[in-house]
Amino acid sequence: MRPTVEYIEQRFREYNSLYFNDMLPEIPVVLSRSKSFLGACTYKRRRLTGEKYDFKLRISTRMDLPEEEVQDTIIHEMIHYYIFYTGARDTSAHGRIFRSIMATINERFGRHVTISHRPTAEQREDARDKRPKPHVIALVTLRDGRTGIKVIPATQRSLTAFRRGIRRAPSVKDTQYWLTSDPFFNGWPSSSALRIHFPDLAAVREHLAEATPL
Ligand SMILES: [Zn+2]
Repeated sequence: MRPTVEYIEQRFREYNSLYFNDMLPEIPVVLSRSKSFLGACTYKRRRLTGEKYDFKLRISTRMDLPEEEVQDTIIHEMIHYYIFYTGARDTSAHGRIFRSIMATINERFGRHVTISHRPTAEQREDARDKRPKPHVIALVTLRDGRTGIKVIPATQRSLTAFRRGIRRAPSVKDTQYWLTSDPFFNGWPSSSALRIHFPDLAAVREHLAEATPL
């Protein structure tokens, strides 16, 4: 399932009453498209006192998860929220206090909350857009020796805009262009903006092996 804000708010109230004695004030729920986390409890911190405030419960709807896992993710973030809110000092992000609350909830209520925020590699893979889409890949070699990559939409307009920009960038030594529909490149931001990324180049070159040089 991919939960809605209403669903998460309902679960929050339910768990607040079941597991936290209704002591947690409600917080804004924010849906996220992140594939690097399933949930997060974020906050701001007062500069002088270090007090935490402006809590938000963020839940990623990027992955289609079993309902129980969505629920356990909400509970996991609520444990963080409880610790932040009460100002308890834990030994680490998922330290002794976190683990003890987690163990109590799991044992008493048959939940399967874990200390992980991250989707498994398999879940991430499922969430990735695997449809082949044409991209132009620019391999940009800088004068300092580094080589970066830029994914550009495969339109003449975007390519022209990028080429015009890159010609004016003094730090660029050389640029090579490739045309490919390999879904490997779907994950990068695609635009004509002059912004390059420095990923694992060996993997990139592997995926460019079948690409057409431009
Ligand atoms: Zn956590």
